[in-house]
Amino acid sequence: MTLPPCDNPPTPQETAALRERYRAERERRVRPEGPGQYRETTAEFGYFAADPYVGEPADREPLHDVVDVAVVGGGFGGILAGARLRAQGVARIRVVEKGGDFGGTWYWNRYPGIHCDIESHIYLPMLDETGYVPEWKYAPGEEIRRHAVRMAEQSKLYEDALFSTAVTSLTWDEDGGQWVVRTDRGDEFRATYVITATGTLSEPKLPGIPGIEEYKGHTFHTSRWDYGYTGGGPEGGLTGLAGKRVGVVGTGATGVQVIPKLAEDAGHLYVFQRTPSAVDVRGQRRTTPGEVGADRAGWAAERRENFLRIVSGEDAERDLVTDGWTESAALLEKLLPSFRRDGEPDFEAAYEAADHAAMNRIRDRVAAEVTDPATAAALQPWYRYACKRPTFSDLYLPVFNRDDVTLVDTADTHGIERMTERGVVVDGVEYEVDCLIFATGFSVGVSGVTSGKLPVAGRDGLQLLQARAQQGPRSLHGFTSHGFPNLIQMGSLQNASSVNYTHILDEQAVHAAALIAAAEEKDAVVEPTPEVEDAWIGVCAQDAPDHAWFHAECTPGYYNREGRGRPNGPMAYPHGAVAFHDLLRRWREENIDEALRPKTAAPVR
Ligand code: NDP
Repeated sequence: MTLPPCDNPPTPQETAALRERYRAERERRVRPEGPGQYRETTAEFGYFAADPYVGEPADREPLHDVVDVAVVGGGFGGILAGARLRAQGVARIRVVEKGGDFGGTWYWNRYPGIHCDIESHIYLPMLDETGYVPEWKYAPGEEIRRHAVRMAEQSKLYEDALFSTAVTSLTWDEDGGQWVVRTDRGDEFRATYVITATGTLSEPKLPGIPGIEEYKGHTFHTSRWDYGYTGGGPEGGLTGLAGKRVGVVGTGATGVQVIPKLAEDAGHLYVFQRTPSAVDVRGQRRTTPGEVGADRAGWAAERRENFLRIVSGEDAERDLVTDGWTESAALLEKLLPSFRRDGEPDFEAAYEAADHAAMNRIRDRVAAEVTDPATAAALQPWYRYACKRPTFSDLYLPVFNRDDVTLVDTADTHGIERMTERGVVVDGVEYEVDCLIFATGFSVGVSGVTSGKLPVAGRDGLQLLQARAQQGPRSLHGFTSHGFPNLIQMGSLQNASSVNYTHILDEQAVHAAALIAAAEEKDAVVEPTPEVEDAWIGVCAQDAPDHAWFHAECTPGYYNREGRGRPNGPMAYPHGAVAFHDLLRRWREENIDEALRPKTAAPVR
């Protein structure tokens, strides 16, 4: 990939000054506890993770039956897996989901102002199959949730689904050739195959602020919005906040969307910020089916493939989506196969110059939109664009021109200092609030099979987490692992990732369904040999991107384990999602037997 030319490349002095500023700003925010600064929403904080949308789930009898496929998780990954399996004629598919309905992240997150910042026509899966055409460039959360329900209905996934139910263990029964699935509702059923689609950012987290338990006002997390208290809905109209002093902690992608809505209705809004987001232009607008080409078969698949090519640094004849993501594609570390920098000796300098230009534009926008100079200065982000998740809003910055909104910068105290019965203390000043809302994000890697919360025992009782701890993650394409027959994992480990993650999930669902179809057709078990795994780990290790230097210099956040950096290693396919999908397609045609062993053959031990 070639980075875009920079009109006014910075002088060496400017570059040095900016690096120093970035370093100093980073130091203001790093906390010695790293990820340990957060609290899980369990035990006395379990209230923050309770489902506000269904109340107490209705009693039901535990199940002890047999299904063809159990799918753990009913978000887009699980729905897509179910849909692709149904399309190939699988009869009994049981999706097990903690929430009260399908939707995953869009089931839980219903905060005011919620939208997806990826274009709706590429983010919503199965538009070609359902015939649905979104009307807005960026879909509201409720439209996305309804689409999840539409997909599940169309694929008849409600028939065997279990909601408000968490899988508590998966145990392989070698003699029966089935998985035994246990849940927190007393179920103990069997499934020939298990697909895990548990997501990565699903457990809300809280900052471990001293005194957090002392606060006596009303409080909740943005992913469990309490409309009973605030009134209104995702479109706003929060009449319950009239005249109230409201605090919001966090200014990430969620904070940027929710804060303008809170400002409309709160008596006074205090925004507690530690690190400002990079807020780029949104450009929300209505769209017509004609302009997105929805009159042609296959239009949605073509559009999302075009987006993926651009953000993966591949050639594309034109840019169909033309938004902040495609325009910033060359800067996004997560999307940059060129982090390899092979044959590009000047890559780092070119990257830095392009990054400076992009961040200067974002900082200039703050200065242009926020009238009070001190507030504007506090809202300017001083780090590289790809250090934190970029955000997009045309409503956020002007909010800080309102008299009834106060920005409280907490960077000098590394975040909120402490809490009291009445409110929040920053730099010795107590801010009394009637309601405190945590827009503080989600724990990374604590859901599903990698968390320890869902123990997986494979053949001979082999524990998945233990095996990983001892040997490092081992898989074929990230989906299947030796010792864990007929278990297919969806996720980005030793697989691919991209910003439009539903596209990635759809490719994974197609692949999972193909593995199961092949196993059924050949009377086989899905299980790669250790040699096949070795070969795949070799592919991931060779050319693994050197991004450790980048994350080591970044401001803290969940991308770099709160400032601790991110190791290099064979964690993902290194050549980008487009190449990975091509590889999978060819492999399915030519080599799928690599993932199978005949049922009659003794497993390699
Ligand atoms: P984030 O983890 O991105 O943000 C958490 C916020 O809480 C940060 O601003 C953080 O500050 C702040 N914070 C944490 N602890 C403290 C403290 N002690 N004192 C003060 N502030 C504190 O969570 P989000 O929910 O915003 O976003 C999570 C992810 O969800 C996004 O990265 C994105 O992937 C996804 N998302 C996607 C959307 C979409 O439209 N597609 C919309 C919303 C979310 P600091 O930065 O200093 O750590």
